[in-house]
Amino acid sequence: MNSLCENEGADESRRSATRGGMLVVVSSPSGGGKGTLIRRALEIVPNLDYSVSYTTRLPRPGELNGRDYYFVAKEEFERMRAGGEFLESACVHNNFYGTACAEVERATASGQDVILEIDVQGAASVAERAREAASVFIFILPPSFDELARRLSARGTENQSDLQARLKNSRGEVERYTEFDYVVLNDEAERASKELAAIVLAERARRERQIELAKRVLATFPQNF
Ligand code: 5GP
Repeated sequence: MNSLCENEGADESRRSATRGGMLVVVSSPSGGGKGTLIRRALEIVPNLDYSVSYTTRLPRPGELNGRDYYFVAKEEFERMRAGGEFLESACVHNNFYGTACAEVERATASGQDVILEIDVQGAASVAERAREAASVFIFILPPSFDELARRLSARGTENQSDLQARLKNSRGEVERYTEFDYVVLNDEAERASKELAAIVLAERARRERQIELAKRVLATFPQNF
């Protein structure tokens, strides 16, 4: 069966190909600015969807259920995880986050590419589980630790202890840039979002993703001309 998350039980590794679309996995430390870059890339690149994650974290002011996240209680998250409903899930800065298979399949089944905005642990799980699926892994690099700290505190969304926890985790997250295919420096949002969009477009044009197209074009050429 050609589905991203065949529900073979929670303990089974679920690996299979997406029907059509490519998974674009984007990670960065908290405050790295990936949300802004992704929003802009979604405006630039056609046929690109966004996977809304599930989280047990409380909504921040202005965040909407179903747009920013699906905000769920721990029990509901645990039920979904036990039921094998997540492509990946992780505990990040003391909250649970997960990418629902259904969310990703909704987009990829119709041939759309889909962005997963997830942490480095989640990216590693996707790399492991979706081995056969078309996927590309992009790390958003902040210009420096000081700039990351400045952006995170300017955002004003975390209390002091959450902020410290996020900054404390950031070095370990940045060290894992080596696991990604691309690294985009987020020095300036407009430039960096164009780079992110360019990567998605270039990945689409890879030869192995253009075989069907090339065959169709080739079929229009006479054999003995
Ligand atoms: P925040 O609480 O700032 O929205 O997110 C905290 C971290 O969790 C960010 O690095 C974000 O990318 C990550 N995250 C968001 N959704 C998911 C998800 O579905 N899975 C994983 N593994 N991480 C996620």
